[in-house]
Amino acid sequence: MKTPYITLDQVKEIAKTYPTPFYLYDEKGIRENARKVYKAFSWNKGFKEYFAVKATPNPSILRILKEEGCGTDCSSLTELQMSDACGFHGHDIMFSSNDTPLEEYKVANELGAIINLDDFTNIQELKDTLGSFPETMSLRYNPGGYFRIANTIMDNPQDAKYGMTTAQLIEGYRILKEGGVKHFGMHAFLASNTVTNDYYPTLAKELFELAVKIKAETGVALDFINLSGGVGVPYKPDQKSNDIEAIGEGVHRVFDEVLVPHGLGDIRIFTEMGRFMLAPYGALITKVIHFKHTYKEYAGVDACAVNLMRPAMYGAYHHITVLGKENAPCDHTYDVTGSLCENNDKFAIDRALPELEKGDYLFIHDAGAHGFAMGYNYNGKLWSAELLLREDGSVKLIRRAETPKDYFATLDIDDCMKKYL
Ligand SMILES: *Cc1c(COP(=O)(O)O)cnc(C)c1O
Repeated sequence: MKTPYITLDQVKEIAKTYPTPFYLYDEKGIRENARKVYKAFSWNKGFKEYFAVKATPNPSILRILKEEGCGTDCSSLTELQMSDACGFHGHDIMFSSNDTPLEEYKVANELGAIINLDDFTNIQELKDTLGSFPETMSLRYNPGGYFRIANTIMDNPQDAKYGMTTAQLIEGYRILKEGGVKHFGMHAFLASNTVTNDYYPTLAKELFELAVKIKAETGVALDFINLSGGVGVPYKPDQKSNDIEAIGEGVHRVFDEVLVPHGLGDIRIFTEMGRFMLAPYGALITKVIHFKHTYKEYAGVDACAVNLMRPAMYGAYHHITVLGKENAPCDHTYDVTGSLCENNDKFAIDRALPELEKGDYLFIHDAGAHGFAMGYNYNGKLWSAELLLREDGSVKLIRRAETPKDYFATLDIDDCMKKYL
């Protein structure tokens, strides 16, 4: 069972000021979860979670995470700028990008961020761009083949565009060392949205063994290993949640097994989670505005795929609670649709829900990461507002809804649009 962190009466009150659709984030949930993450890795001296800004790029969210001890993981110019503006400085910022415009390395370096290079050719490019290497550098690894856990294939790194081969990585550390780099890190992201407590420990073991090999072959003792993102959330109500405590313990076990005996027990563990940090603590709230009965039963809402793209893009499941009907029997079946001229604009297909009425508010769960962030403007649809439910129950607007004026603002006006600006 999934329970919304807001009641129908509260949403009705909020909607008087901020019309639907809007995103609503739960500050209490975000903070409690972040504290659990830090507790789970408290055995590691220097552990740090670098929140993946791309998951939920909003300064109010970033500042909450900063208060909980997190840094940011950035992959673009604007994410770096947002981190800087929110008070993240120096090694509180990780720059893990790929296919990177050279200008962005300069910006990252000026902010003192840790630069994590995706490709072997980036090494020379970075040196040419900055004149010399920063003192601290990280390299991204891709082992190729299949990433397996207990005979289950989790993903195919060989088909992923990210990271360097083992040979490139080892050669890379040699070059960096000769180039005067003092502190080294390694990074890998091998599977996405994993709902098993074994992902991080299995990944960590592979990276720890490689760290031992790197030390033997190049003399480079890594300072940190970045397990990156990929820890998932149970989008479906019958899925079991990851247990971050067990995940932290699992990494601890392989750390003691592999790194400690090789004199590498000072390595700091970093993570770069986005989804696990935010997905369950953000919801898209939308209102039922239309019904259609043809070959199927459709319930139309005032949000659409531009507000939450995951169902349209990946066929992703997002659980829906009808506010005020939390305990009503789910004895009706609907396709819950938006208004785009695209047939994949459906938040749910053949979903069993309580009988819907016009004006019902739907709470679309687990939209706090890769939700708002993946928005777009197709069909001239506008970006929604984002609201924060504070710990005292009050609601704060943390991003206003886009207006037609915003949407038209980047056009070459040439008089014709003046009426709307
Ligand atoms: C997307 C991304 C993350 C976050 O991934 P989640 O699945 O949201 O945890 C972390 N690091 C990098 C480099 C990414 O691209």
